[in-house]
Amino acid sequence: MSKLSYLLQCMAAQFAAMRYRCPNCGSTTNRIVDRKFVITQLRRCGTCQLLFRTPTDRPESNQAYYENEYGQGFTTSLPSGAALAGMKRSNFANTEKSYSYYISVLLQLGLKPRSRLFDYGCSWGYGSYQFAQAGFDVTAFEVAPTRRRFAHEKLGVRTFDDMERAVADLAGQVDCFFSAHVLEHVPAPSKSFGYAMRLLKLRGFFVSFTPNGSEAHRAASRDWSKVWGQAHPQFIDDVFLDHSFKLSPRAVGSSPVGDMSPPAECRLNRVDKLAGGELVFAARKTGEAWA
Ligand SMILES: [Zn+2]
Repeated sequence: MSKLSYLLQCMAAQFAAMRYRCPNCGSTTNRIVDRKFVITQLRRCGTCQLLFRTPTDRPESNQAYYENEYGQGFTTSLPSGAALAGMKRSNFANTEKSYSYYISVLLQLGLKPRSRLFDYGCSWGYGSYQFAQAGFDVTAFEVAPTRRRFAHEKLGVRTFDDMERAVADLAGQVDCFFSAHVLEHVPAPSKSFGYAMRLLKLRGFFVSFTPNGSEAHRAASRDWSKVWGQAHPQFIDDVFLDHSFKLSPRAVGSSPVGDMSPPAECRLNRVDKLAGGELVFAARKTGEAWA
């Protein structure tokens, strides 16, 4: 969707009360924390604490958007056969999608090769492939059919197109529920947290990497306001994650994170000042609910 049609859609939604409710919990209580283009706002939900853009998207538009219109360069455009062969030969080492850093964070958390990893929102499979090369036992989920098929057929990734089916097959068997740059696109992240809770073993980890919506990053970067909007309707931050996982040991930092040792106590461990552009979060499953 062009920026103009995005803004026209936002304009058309100005008087639709539904489009000002929190997309995560449905609450109508919120406060404005930022504004852009006169007609769009970033709001903090007063109930679940999510930062979300208003007007929100039409609920039915999500899957169509990701299949047809969501383009962010390397993340979503599919490589040619020759390009893919080159990337596999180098294990993606010289590309912006190298997962060596993400793998190092999982190892800091104490996850071992052969751990069962669920890659939530795997796009065309470049990350799942690298996890498998590092020895993890990987299963993945992707909402966009074309990219999911590519991951399965070209990169040998075991994929699901339906989270309920994934949970039916793998409940209580997963060591790490991983997502990188996914939650900021998901209208109801709490639903994803629920899937993670059901998939994970006791003492397994929920791990996410997202753009950093925290106030510390806002103070450190002039680009903070540019990050939320059309492509990122949710802005994930330490406050929302802390609230969502409040019954679990949990840690948050920003990339490149120095010390993601497994959180032991049931409180939020801030491992750095959260000033960087990418937020890193981990929570350990110790009971039957996150919050
Ligand atoms: Zn909410």
